[in-house]
Amino acid sequence: MFTDSHCHLTMADAAATLARARAGGAAGFVVPGTKLSDAPQAVAIANANDDVWAAVGFHPHDAKDCDDRAFAEIERLAQEQRVVAVGECGLDYHYMHSPRETQIAVFERHLDLAKRLDKPIIVHNRESTDDMVAVLTRSGARGILHSYTENAGVARTFIDLGYYISFSGIVTFRSAEALRECARQLPHDRVLIETDTPYLAPVPYRGKDNEPAFVVKVAELLAGLWGRPLDEVAAQTTANFERAFRVNVKG
Ligand SMILES: [Zn+2]
Repeated sequence: MFTDSHCHLTMADAAATLARARAGGAAGFVVPGTKLSDAPQAVAIANANDDVWAAVGFHPHDAKDCDDRAFAEIERLAQEQRVVAVGECGLDYHYMHSPRETQIAVFERHLDLAKRLDKPIIVHNRESTDDMVAVLTRSGARGILHSYTENAGVARTFIDLGYYISFSGIVTFRSAEALRECARQLPHDRVLIETDTPYLAPVPYRGKDNEPAFVVKVAELLAGLWGRPLDEVAAQTTANFERAFRVNVKG
């Protein structure tokens, strides 16, 4: 039984891709919103499927659009029963689509909401690790570092703060030897798996649209790194998913 902690089914054929994923043994999915316009759709997909939960928030690319009115709507949706996390949100200094100060202010607003609702936060972090460590350290929230790409030392810092580390298809890429070394070292009870559908399709599907069925490839990669059977990795990452999001995945 596999779980996909991060799939943008708002950008995919949700019904068809969920059907293929279930046929392949996947049984729990979190669909994050990225802005105001896709948040209601993320919630609707969760409400229509027993094995899907949603998150709502502003991706750092769209942080500049997160004004008071927009955030009030995110705050309203975040309280829905099947919305189990706040996000995706965070910092992205690679693209810098929103100014750094705006990204930090909007992200801190999401962290504050997550703490008030006692729900985890789904964090995007790209080329912003120094600020990310500082912001998460002072916030006191808990959650998930999604599509993790930093080293094991940084991961341990996040784990010590109460975060889970989620690996996407990037960990299967030929060039990602450093990331595999990180994944090899982390405590197994703090690791999640995800696809980040429709992006980042794992080997051997690179170049195709990603979909939740392909999360098995991430689990297989971890099984090889950890020297554990695939079904044990599936059970471990599913237990971690249930603990991180406080949900119950039924096989
Ligand atoms: Zn994402």
